[in-house]
Amino acid sequence: MKASIILVGTELLSGGTVDTNSIFMAEELNKYGIEIKNKLTVKDSIEDILVALEFARKNSDLIITSGGLGPTIDDITKDAVAMFLNKKIIVDDKDLAIMMKKFEERQLTYTPNNIKQVEKPEGAVSIPNKVGMCPAVYVDGIVSFPGVPSEVYDMFPRFLEWFAREKDLLVDKIYIRDLLVYGIGEAHLDQIISGFFTEEGIDYEFLVKDFGIIIRLQGKNSNKNIVEKIAEKIYNIIGDNIFGEGNDRLENLVIEKLKQEKLSLSVAESCTGGMLSAKIVGVSGASEVYEEGITTYSNEAKQKRLGVKKETLEKYGAVSKETAEEMVRGLKTDVGIATTGVAGPLGGTPEKPVGLVYMGIKVKDRVVVERKVFVGTRNKIRERATLQCLFYLNKMLKGKY
Ligand code: ATP
Ligand code: MG
Repeated sequence: MKASIILVGTELLSGGTVDTNSIFMAEELNKYGIEIKNKLTVKDSIEDILVALEFARKNSDLIITSGGLGPTIDDITKDAVAMFLNKKIIVDDKDLAIMMKKFEERQLTYTPNNIKQVEKPEGAVSIPNKVGMCPAVYVDGIVSFPGVPSEVYDMFPRFLEWFAREKDLLVDKIYIRDLLVYGIGEAHLDQIISGFFTEEGIDYEFLVKDFGIIIRLQGKNSNKNIVEKIAEKIYNIIGDNIFGEGNDRLENLVIEKLKQEKLSLSVAESCTGGMLSAKIVGVSGASEVYEEGITTYSNEAKQKRLGVKKETLEKYGAVSKETAEEMVRGLKTDVGIATTGVAGPLGGTPEKPVGLVYMGIKVKDRVVVERKVFVGTRNKIRERATLQCLFYLNKMLKGKY
């Protein structure tokens, strides 16, 4: 099965909006073993959409469009599809009723042009929209989605499930296992694992994310066992660097573990200045364990709030193992994290270069201070230090460190 994606929106060509919808769609299509032949981006113009449909039709069984389903004059995707298929545009009464109910519930003002949102080419199937107003519509191998990403995320997986069932695609479904790795680079990873992939149809790829690297293992569902065995081999070698799988994130894992163990958490941040706290607070339910986060940026604040000794600061400096240790010991919760470093771009010296960060981690009576030199911009250094702290803490909580 082959598919093409047509992205409709003048703002996508002018640089006003970055296309993220097709990235999401590609990942979902991948799960069903549907190959993407083309990705075309066109203006909000009937003629241009028709050209793209014509082109995509030549080598695709499924055409997916995104954007231009709204109520305004420039929203013309469904008109173009109807024209392409020689079909009339009709109003779907069921969809209209659902939309009117939403307008009422959300206390929005209905204007006559809103009806466009429930128009569709005759004979099209609607995929209900749980987020916004416009359902996605499918007819004769063409499916149209709105441009709003949250609506695409809601409807696209449901559409594919339905479509796969309809077209009996399930036999082809791809089994994916995502291992999340922190602390090993892509090139090194490749050296470690490439030898495991000798069987045809079992592949891997690396997806570099801000939270680490995803090793994506994939093969046909019928080859699931082989993929599992390879995953096991990878765990045996670099298990310490695999912090989770799938949608796991370090901050979620840490909070989950703290909840299980009924441990309280607080952080004292210098160079990360609130980033750690923000990551922790980003986890729903963090309040069960998270007590406080303080930004102790100046020497005075480190002394006043955490009891760091004046002599320590004078003798070793604010960016030092000793200061990091006193900072984290100054936190009164079961578990604590402290950061102090040189985020740059100014302020580096040969002994204390830009990117040098000391991270103090405390779990009950045990305190560990780690030193790392990160590279990157000021913000990147702060982000990397934040992640590194969570990585250490996660390991400590698992008793592996
Ligand atoms: P609306 O009812 O909001 O008009 P629509 O289906 O007509 O929805 P558009 O008007 O094309 O969609 O886009 C709506 C919003 O989604 C805009 O903010 C646009 O920048 C964004 N958007 C459109 N296409 C994409 C895309 N491919 N990736 C990410 N964002 C997109
Ligand atoms: Mg629009």
